[in-house]
Amino acid sequence: MKLNIAHLYPDLLNLYGDRGNIQCFKKRLEWRGIDVNVTQYLQGDLIDFSGIDIVLLGGGSDREQEIVCKELLKIKDSFKKYVEDGGVVLAVCGGYQLLGNYYMTKTSKIEGLGILDIYTEWKPKRLIRNIVLNSDLFETPVVGFENHGGRTYIGKHKPLGKVFFGLGNTGKGDYEGVVYKNVIATYLHGPLLPKNPQVCDYLLTKALERKYKTDISLKPLDDSKEMAANSYIVDRYSDKKNIFKEFIKRHT
Ligand code: GLN
Repeated sequence: MKLNIAHLYPDLLNLYGDRGNIQCFKKRLEWRGIDVNVTQYLQGDLIDFSGIDIVLLGGGSDREQEIVCKELLKIKDSFKKYVEDGGVVLAVCGGYQLLGNYYMTKTSKIEGLGILDIYTEWKPKRLIRNIVLNSDLFETPVVGFENHGGRTYIGKHKPLGKVFFGLGNTGKGDYEGVVYKNVIATYLHGPLLPKNPQVCDYLLTKALERKYKTDISLKPLDDSKEMAANSYIVDRYSDKKNIFKEFIKRHT
């Protein structure tokens, strides 16, 4: 078995170690004896989605998003087709916003891919925090770090999780991210996957099942170090929940 991973515009979208998500996909496949090929696509490169199994779209500043938006609009139709066909996507922060209809920044309107029926609006107070989610897709909490000026309104979409600690899509501390078909779109940087191996394996399973058209049960790995990192964050915030509610009341 083999998976082809496409890392889109890593020179522009690579905040807070988003590149580590690629390493995590790669290592967890290699440790199981599954072949993997990673291709980086830069501005101007042609992208043929027919051979791609996983797409990573990382986070970036508003300025970088404006540049990337022009590239993405050129591949809008084929990217949308890939998603509708069950193609796996991990989109983080700026990448998450670009999957939506638009991102209204302080100075301009950045057109998105319209793959998700969501929109984002910039507000002056940046939302910067560690964040912990409860997601019904996973048995263990999802942890990460958020830093965004945009507030994302997800309409009827299903969120990735309920915020246990942190600010989330709109800064109100209620919900975070979106799950749509085999897309996970989220504000969680960190990078996300090394601290959340359950999320990594979920996406790998979806990609393998789509490609090989059969149920896949990935060989378990020793995740004790990864889960120790995950629990460290969860434990750090589990006793601060009430104090944090007060913080949100004062700042939103
Ligand atoms: N520029 C976007 C914002 O500030 C996304 C930032 C990011 O990717 N961390 O909302």
